[in-house]
Amino acid sequence: MTSDEIRNRFLTFFESRDHKRLASGSLVPAEHDPSVLLTTAGMHPLKPYFQGREKPPHHRLTSCQKCFRTPDIDQVGLTTRHLTFFEMLGNFSMGDYFKEGAIAFAWELSLEGFGFNPDDIWVTVFEGDEELGLGPDQEAIDAWLKIGVPRERIVECPRSENFWQAGPTGPCGPCSELYLDRGLAFGKEDDLPGGENERFLEYWNLVFMQFEQNPVNTLTPLPAQNIDTGLGLNRLAAILQGVTSVFDTDQFIPLIKLGEELSGKAAGSSEDVDRALRVLADHTRGMSFLIADGVVPSNEDRGYVLRRLMRRAIVQGRRIGIAPGFLPRYAEVVRETMGAHYGELLEQADTVDMWLRNEEEAFNRTLESGLKMLDDVIARAAANGEEGIGADEAFKLHDTFGFPFDLTLELAAERGLGVDEQGFESLMEEQRVRARASAGREGGEDVREKLRTFAATAGAPSVFTGYETTEQTTA
Ligand code: ATP
Ligand code: MG
Ligand code: MG
Ligand code: MG
Repeated sequence: MTSDEIRNRFLTFFESRDHKRLASGSLVPAEHDPSVLLTTAGMHPLKPYFQGREKPPHHRLTSCQKCFRTPDIDQVGLTTRHLTFFEMLGNFSMGDYFKEGAIAFAWELSLEGFGFNPDDIWVTVFEGDEELGLGPDQEAIDAWLKIGVPRERIVECPRSENFWQAGPTGPCGPCSELYLDRGLAFGKEDDLPGGENERFLEYWNLVFMQFEQNPVNTLTPLPAQNIDTGLGLNRLAAILQGVTSVFDTDQFIPLIKLGEELSGKAAGSSEDVDRALRVLADHTRGMSFLIADGVVPSNEDRGYVLRRLMRRAIVQGRRIGIAPGFLPRYAEVVRETMGAHYGELLEQADTVDMWLRNEEEAFNRTLESGLKMLDDVIARAAANGEEGIGADEAFKLHDTFGFPFDLTLELAAERGLGVDEQGFESLMEEQRVRARASAGREGGEDVREKLRTFAATAGAPSVFTGYETTEQTTA
């Protein structure tokens, strides 16, 4: 089943059960939602409905939402299931059906729509949490038992896994997740769903959205009991196409091939090559979609997320020997694989290509001057008989020249030199403390302006680590 077919099967399944189909919202959340930088789940555009601030167009909704998860960026290429940009399929009930209804739909579609063997499906439920004043989710356990899932395949998990909230405040609730047991080829006998293993692949999260999270762990009931579900299209594609990882599915194969062609290196030839090919495939999709939704590279907020994505991709390309100027080549293949469903990629093609070209040229200049500096530093270290590069010098390269620390490490290692990583980290931390202190002392718009200027001159990464955490999802 192709990714397009999966998307279609999901949406028509719910349409035929009285759900109204909504188009994907933008990756840039609406003005009224300052809690996240980018849309991380299908529920974001629907928040006003859950909170009772706006009337939904129907009490049952379904969508395929473009999502971007900055906190997952480091996982890309290291797990079989994490992407930064992905599509999330969802069905939503606005005060209509609740736990039992959502569980029955998920079960029916998993078995009859996607043909899963019921014996391979495991589910998790919320075990309760004292701090939140909630007990185990017996209602969910009963609903799973009723539908025929044996008790031993219903696993109770803590708040960190099975209580969903999008950002520090907003609608939230306990959840129940569906996992597919991929067998011992992917893990160990005693693995369980809800952990970090690759044996149990989480594919669908059913959120029983019934509370509003207020600061400091207090929950107030929402106007109605709602359902919010999220199923990862790319993970489902991996399962249904019989492959191990999302990178081996139809949406990704042409991008991986392009990387092989441009680099002359075959997928599977080494772990580093695989990681680079996957990061490139993921990041170039992400940057294309972000720009198509109006994000431009900059040194703050979502513009910085985009810039970071582009720079990481450029570094990975360089690492496997791809000649400069390659980002637009990728963007073209992103359009070929995704443009039929996402018209904005075609409409914004020129804008996407323009930003990719500009950023690549600018960053390559940064890399070149950084490389020259690094060569000097390395030569000096070697001449003085030092074993490595000092923290001060690595920090200056990063802070003043925007030269990625990863690359400093790698290039130093190529010449048999180490880098004072600990020292570098403490300089980064000092800089964070300075930024926070000045923000706290001065407050207000003026500080935002100062931080902006600082970021623009400093290459910025350290200033923005705070935003990463505002985007965490806890489920
Ligand atoms: P994981 O534990 O694997 O990181 P999650 O619990 O963070 O996933 P949810 O927040 O529950 O994910 O999101 C709902 C669904 O979206 C998941 O069940 C999964 O199918 C999909 N999904 C989540 N994160 C990603 C990602 N980074 N890449 C691809 N699909 C994802
Ligand atoms: Mg989850
Ligand atoms: Mg999870
Ligand atoms: Mg996650």
